[in-house]
Amino acid sequence: MPDNKLLRQIPTVNEIIDSPEIAKMLENYSRELVLEAVRGVLALTRLKIANGNSTTDDNIGWLKKDVLFKEISGYLDTLFRPSLRRVINATGVVLHTNLGRANLSLSAVEAVKMAASGYSNLEINLFDGQRGSRYAHLEKLLARLTGAEAALAVNNNAAAVLLSIGALAKNKEVIVSRGQLVEIGGSFRIPEVMEQSGAIIKEIGTTNRTHPADYQNAINENTGLLLYVHSSNYKIIGFTKETSIKQLVEIGNASGIPVVCDLGSGSLVEMEQFGLPSEITVQEIVNSGVDLITFSGDKLLGGPQSGIILGKSDLIEKIKKNPLTRAVRIDKMAVAALEATLREYLDLKNAVQNIPVLKMLAADEKQLKIRAEILLDLLSSELSLKADVSVEIGISAVGGGAMPGADLSSRLVALKPKTHSPSLVANLLRQGIPSVLCQLKDNRLLFDMRTLLEGEEAQLAEAIINVFSGEITP
Ligand SMILES: *Cc1c(COP(=O)(O)O)cnc(C)c1O
Repeated sequence: MPDNKLLRQIPTVNEIIDSPEIAKMLENYSRELVLEAVRGVLALTRLKIANGNSTTDDNIGWLKKDVLFKEISGYLDTLFRPSLRRVINATGVVLHTNLGRANLSLSAVEAVKMAASGYSNLEINLFDGQRGSRYAHLEKLLARLTGAEAALAVNNNAAAVLLSIGALAKNKEVIVSRGQLVEIGGSFRIPEVMEQSGAIIKEIGTTNRTHPADYQNAINENTGLLLYVHSSNYKIIGFTKETSIKQLVEIGNASGIPVVCDLGSGSLVEMEQFGLPSEITVQEIVNSGVDLITFSGDKLLGGPQSGIILGKSDLIEKIKKNPLTRAVRIDKMAVAALEATLREYLDLKNAVQNIPVLKMLAADEKQLKIRAEILLDLLSSELSLKADVSVEIGISAVGGGAMPGADLSSRLVALKPKTHSPSLVANLLRQGIPSVLCQLKDNRLLFDMRTLLEGEEAQLAEAIINVFSGEITP
């Protein structure tokens, strides 16, 4: 039974709207929105009473006007609080897909600002005033940096793969090793993408071993292409055999069948310089004579979300004319960011210094140790009674489906709370502004220095201290 006595105590909309507290809210928000908030909060209050979860014996505090005002103001704040907000990434995963993958270089950010805030020559040739192509801003640069004959950038690598397979193997067979039928995550599965592009999958070999002869034996008059997919996010170890890209090109050349390579991450620089396992670079693959190569713009390249297709001119032209290409075209902000990112690669030293992904991979342990000690200092004086804090050696990950199991030795700050449960601290950190993400292991929170932006130590320390001082509540 609803408590009628309580219901009668709820103030009316008019009683609330004429108060000085609401007048203050009306300075910031429209009358319509404030009324919506008032009605919403009052309706919720009525519901609480109807549900009977209100009549605790203490005073009915939440019916007091100042409590209602707080709720109304909270309603409005929530409405205007951006859903997409900054996250301090202390996970140590450099290319964290759920955190937006690559951070852009300053030059790329400037380029995005220019393209977003004003008009640009996106699709006009300024030389003759005729219609131009958005792809033209990238093509020469991509060709120069990689040695490819022609190039095209689209919305993402998933689209690049779809277009490339579709261009060469519609209604034809695509020969692919069983060891390369990967799922990348977010429902990108190679077999399904192939089906979408109208190709017929011809699986060969076994999960762990596929030989050149397996490809040769599978070729017939309906073969469209030989596909090589970088296994990206997993590794097969033990008794394994993969047919190399070079061998695939030889087989393809001998039988007149094109070879397509989905590189996934794709890097223009040698990963060995960062102490990572050696990976074949995009330039080397172009050089090997593959017909089409696709890779992501926002993985190891360190640019915006985009998918890059490199290859022979006739094939790239064919893809440009496919109506599907229009549906997955790259937007102007990504063109701007990708062009600026690629220009950094004109001088490889600049690239490593200016592209955040490469800079994070290149960070040496001495630098990371200094940063960990800065954070430790900021925390230990404030938290001495509330947590044990120490600096440890740990391992960061490249992420973005690249180099699983690669050892990137890093420095972490480990925090073992004494007053709260570790998972509560992690929850509160995640919900803070800015939000903080870290790793939880053995009842401790681990903050990896590698993925912090420059100067972010102080903000991270503040966020952690705020949680322990009770300033953030669930
Ligand atoms: C990441 C990845 C993709 C998908 O790339 P997106 O840019 O995320 O669309 C496709 N293939 C491989 C091998 C990958 O690693």
